[in-house]
Amino acid sequence: MSNRQLSIILPLAIRDTYTYRVPDSMPCPRPGTRVLVPLAKREMVGIVLGQYNGEPLPEDKLRDIIEVLDAEPILTEEQLRLWQWVADYYMCPIGDVMLAALPNKANDRQYVLADTSRRRVKLPEYKGETYPPHPLDDQQTEALRRIRQEWQRHDVVLLHGVTSSGKTEVYIHLILEALERGQQVLYLVPEIALTAQLTDRLQRVFGSRLSVYHSRISDAQRMELYRQLILTNEPRLIVGARSAVFLPLRNAGLLIVDEEHEPSYKQQDPAPRYHARSLAAVRARLLGAKVLFGTATPSIETYYNALTGKYGLVEMKRRFQGLQLPRITLIDLQRQYHRKEMYQHFSDPLVMRIREELSKHKQIILFQNRRGYAPYVQCNACGYVPKCPDCDVSLTLHKATTYDARCSRLVCHYCGSTTPLPTVCPECGGEMRIHGFGTERIEDEVYGLFPEARVARMDLDTTRRKDDYQSILSAFAAHEVDILIGTQMVTKGLHFDNVSLVAVLNADSLLTQPTFRSYERAYHMLEQVSGRAGRTRTEEADSAEVFIQTFDPKHPVFDWVIRHDYEAMYSEQIAERESFRYPPFTRLITITLRHRHDETVERAAQTLRDRLKAVFGQRCSDVILPSISRVQTKHIRCLQLRIEANASIARAKAMLRPHLEALTSEAAFRTVEILPDIDPQ
Ligand code: ADP
Ligand code: ZN
Repeated sequence: MSNRQLSIILPLAIRDTYTYRVPDSMPCPRPGTRVLVPLAKREMVGIVLGQYNGEPLPEDKLRDIIEVLDAEPILTEEQLRLWQWVADYYMCPIGDVMLAALPNKANDRQYVLADTSRRRVKLPEYKGETYPPHPLDDQQTEALRRIRQEWQRHDVVLLHGVTSSGKTEVYIHLILEALERGQQVLYLVPEIALTAQLTDRLQRVFGSRLSVYHSRISDAQRMELYRQLILTNEPRLIVGARSAVFLPLRNAGLLIVDEEHEPSYKQQDPAPRYHARSLAAVRARLLGAKVLFGTATPSIETYYNALTGKYGLVEMKRRFQGLQLPRITLIDLQRQYHRKEMYQHFSDPLVMRIREELSKHKQIILFQNRRGYAPYVQCNACGYVPKCPDCDVSLTLHKATTYDARCSRLVCHYCGSTTPLPTVCPECGGEMRIHGFGTERIEDEVYGLFPEARVARMDLDTTRRKDDYQSILSAFAAHEVDILIGTQMVTKGLHFDNVSLVAVLNADSLLTQPTFRSYERAYHMLEQVSGRAGRTRTEEADSAEVFIQTFDPKHPVFDWVIRHDYEAMYSEQIAERESFRYPPFTRLITITLRHRHDETVERAAQTLRDRLKAVFGQRCSDVILPSISRVQTKHIRCLQLRIEANASIARAKAMLRPHLEALTSEAAFRTVEILPDIDPQ
């Protein structure tokens, strides 16, 4: 009987679905239900996708479902449709989506969704007072009115408001309305550090109706929140990072994507290589909910969509309470070095300014987009640079206690392997010298230059444990720290009252990224980091200032940043994108090939290129050797397809798919990994 044959999703990145039979003794489980099935000699937790619709399989080839694990589905129909959309759009097995979308504990056969007898973890409860939200000012009231108006014609509205214009406060009003209508709200943020800071602010208004979901919450707590969301549809606010976009929402009214321009919304590795911003828009359609994208610096694509009428557009051009946007001062490092007016990596004017702010009991943020002590070391005599044995990258020097308290270590930022710093050059016995600088070195220099200052550093290395973000940020907010040094983590949406000076120690590394997005990214980063300064009215707030140190002060990006002129950046960049046929005028698909042997991957890439050129012509690139061409012992090649924006991407993928499948089915290339990336960042 074919209707007792079910398609099952397994958390494996191998193929789409697996077919099993429901034994006669078992009631047929509904789509979305967890089941235990045999696979080879193992047993695995899978999810029922639905009836198996293919040719009925011969009964003797089929194995039985062992057990239905829950009486209730663990996925709503809408989630199942989302999973299928993701698998189809991003060209990956639906098993990959299962791995990304469910809390780990859902793969545990012991776990039972509806079991109330077991002692469950509790979600943290807020015991404090709650307060009504702040009344909005005129600009915010107008923005709120316009957002509601735009939602009548668009699912997605972009709120483009300068840093500290009070966007978060507008969100709070919209969230409250949705909750009062009995609906749920999903609020996505790009960085876990930001969830830490937002939690306090949102709890004051929403109390225990707020839940937080991201990878630093324990497995058990994530599963518990998931369980509550699947079993109930109470009004709730869920704040989360990227993967929260997969949570069950049975009653959603609003999805907010804050800092929508952030590249971290895109998952790079492993598959599914999804963009949470795109998924939010897709879900809104499936759920009948509304979406709000918010940012001071919209991505080019989003702004284009807003200008061309695909999204609604609402703007807030002034800071709350009429505060000035911070003044930007460029420091020409060439001149500073020439005049010998440098103290290590700090220019003379910056040192003086930091002293001045410290004496006024103000706080300072120092931004350096590199962690570690120095990005590489090199032999003075023969030029030898230690590289990772497994990756095509030089090793970063770490001096702090992060990796080993006793000695400095060289660390690969791609695979994490570490070795001690050689005392002399292993090639020629020459002296090893340190080149460049990261956050650890800045921290060292700050201790030397400003011995009276209290200093904290926030980067990947200082935030490895669950509560590290919270403790660094609370200490800074309580002014137990004067100078906060950090990587891009400190740029994203954080809010502090007392910061009067922000310095970018080396802006040049932001300008030389090998992507067509590099100017846009640099602009976002500089505008966002400067947006951390002068966020509250005090006597001196209007003199909040940003120092940017650079060897290239004439670079056009600085001109836009100094004038806080997003529109100028946009019109330059959109013109470039059009003339060089980049998104939004085309859609990109990158195909990455990986293999242990350089020769094999090169041949595979060339073979695929020849075949794709025959189909796609000029739309397919030549074989690309990426700037880092080997990672974790695997050699890498890429191909890129550019599909005209008005052509069907679905059709392009349909044409591409058989070629990818054909390649891996050939003996010579069987072990080559082929990784398609749709809309790469
Ligand atoms: P954005 O999200 O645009 O960066 P925020 O919402 O964080 O801006 O607002 C910046 C600062 O102004 C915060 O300290 C916030 O509490 C304050 N603020 C914004 N709107 C109001 C308001 N209507 N009443 C009181 N304070 C406000
Ligand atoms: Zn490595």
